[in-house]
Amino acid sequence: MSIEPGTLYVVATPIGNRADLSERACSVLGAVSVVLAEDTRRTRPLLRDLGIRTPLLALHEHNEQARVADLVARLAGGEALALVSDAGTPLISDPGYRLVRAAREAGFPVSPVPGACAAIAALSVAGIPADRFAFEGFLPAKAVARRNALDALRAETRTLVFYEAVHRVRDTLRDLAATLGGERRACVARELTKLHETVRDGTLAELSAWADADEDVVRGEIVLVVAGAADAAPAGLDARTLLDELARELPAAKAAQITARLTGEPRKKLYQWLVDKGGV
Ligand code: SAM
Repeated sequence: MSIEPGTLYVVATPIGNRADLSERACSVLGAVSVVLAEDTRRTRPLLRDLGIRTPLLALHEHNEQARVADLVARLAGGEALALVSDAGTPLISDPGYRLVRAAREAGFPVSPVPGACAAIAALSVAGIPADRFAFEGFLPAKAVARRNALDALRAETRTLVFYEAVHRVRDTLRDLAATLGGERRACVARELTKLHETVRDGTLAELSAWADADEDVVRGEIVLVVAGAADAAPAGLDARTLLDELARELPAAKAAQITARLTGEPRKKLYQWLVDKGGV
């Protein structure tokens, strides 16, 4: 396969099963002048097993900014470069955007060699609507910040996708159930494409109880997929109670408008109810 000079190739590598590396990815890695790797110790065995001798250069969170100018100069000199991360698609919760931006701003082509991505793989098997989703990456590690981040997602109607470190997964499932409601559907996708692949779905309450009891859940790598907030009012949120509360603080029209948005009840009907009650 021919590659274009002066091009940065962003190459996806497997998230577990080596056979998921595409033929094109293999050709590009073998043909560029250097492979920029998040961790050369992780990428070296992959290249070696493929019989690829392209030199490796470390490009990670801590040296990316410092290396960008030199790498853009290499593109200007006509070299083709490949960017890979430890696993999956670079830039997706992985380093690389500074280099991609700098290459694009300098006018060099940046070309994707797509392949595995844990978030997309999890969405494809979760059985939760995937036509609209919000990829949230890693939640904050500290408990309070994590709860605040989840609070902000309470009303999000798109499916939510999280990456999570295994040692925090039990706490996160507990926080998800407490914040978003134990009845929400969700899926734990663990060790995808690997020997111990486990895809488990259920409500957040069920998954939290299962994770607390399961020894294996704290090993390996995990994606959490959580259904978005239902468009209709959550159980227990009574439209008239909400309307009453809001009407104490806001003009009637505004209170009816917000209640309609949150509960799905017709705005005019809610407003009329306030009128009938003598609140307008
Ligand atoms: N760039 C990668 C991608 O495209 O998926 C993600 C890199 S991020 C630093 C690593 C996280 O991805 C892990 O903590 C885990 O949440 C998820 N992950 C990676 N491989 C996985 C796998 N085989 N099964 C489940 N989750 C995985």
